[in-house]
Amino acid sequence: MIKPIIAANWKMHKTVAESVDFSQRLAKECEGLEEREVIIAPPATALYAVSQVLKGSTVQLSAQNMHWEEKGAFTGEISAPMLADMGCQYILIGHSERRTLFGETNETVNKKLQAALKFGIKPIVCVGETLEQRESEATFDIIKKQVKEGLNNISTGDIECVSIAYEPVWAIGTGKTATPELAEEVHRFIREILSSEFGEDAGIGTAIMYGGSVTPQNIGELMDKPNINGALVGGASLDVTSFTGIIRY
Ligand code: PEP
Repeated sequence: MIKPIIAANWKMHKTVAESVDFSQRLAKECEGLEEREVIIAPPATALYAVSQVLKGSTVQLSAQNMHWEEKGAFTGEISAPMLADMGCQYILIGHSERRTLFGETNETVNKKLQAALKFGIKPIVCVGETLEQRESEATFDIIKKQVKEGLNNISTGDIECVSIAYEPVWAIGTGKTATPELAEEVHRFIREILSSEFGEDAGIGTAIMYGGSVTPQNIGELMDKPNINGALVGGASLDVTSFTGIIRY
């Protein structure tokens, strides 16, 4: 049984003070809440301050992006050991905004994944099709390629640290949620790929979150589906009440 994961992606929102305030309130809300894995991904500028607030809390910390190299002449970049040093337990890799706006490819996703695993940070690998790809019936081919190439050369031991987020690009920030049935179909397909690539245990045991306009109103019906193990939430994670409503679906 996979513990439901509810993860917040704040993208480029919130100052340090706002992030700290949110984290304090969220940590309080999550006190004693054993039945959820709650993760927040603040902007890089707030990671250290939030990590201090979350000490002793069940809420986990994620970064939104990183470079695959350990150190060196990469102006503006942040490495996996730097994130680990700040107390990050998770990293979002391959978010569709990184893919479409910043040239992330399945190959760079894989490099980041390898680097994160090397430094003990758990990757949440984001995959998803665009509207055009869905309309041309390419969804399953795209998802298969993203999962296989993104997770290339990962050992069956390491796969235990990896989670997947299925985020149809046409549903992100648009208010258009995938129907639970449509999301479930892709989640089941991802599970089959994981099984054939990494063995049955990985197929059964890997958490697959759904992302795309998740709200307190629609989370329940999504989580009713057997292959949906959690949610990666953008817009609705920016407000504590709304995010808590999703956590407590
Ligand atoms: C996201 O950015 O990962 C996301 C799912 O955003 P939203 O919930 O706003 O659609």
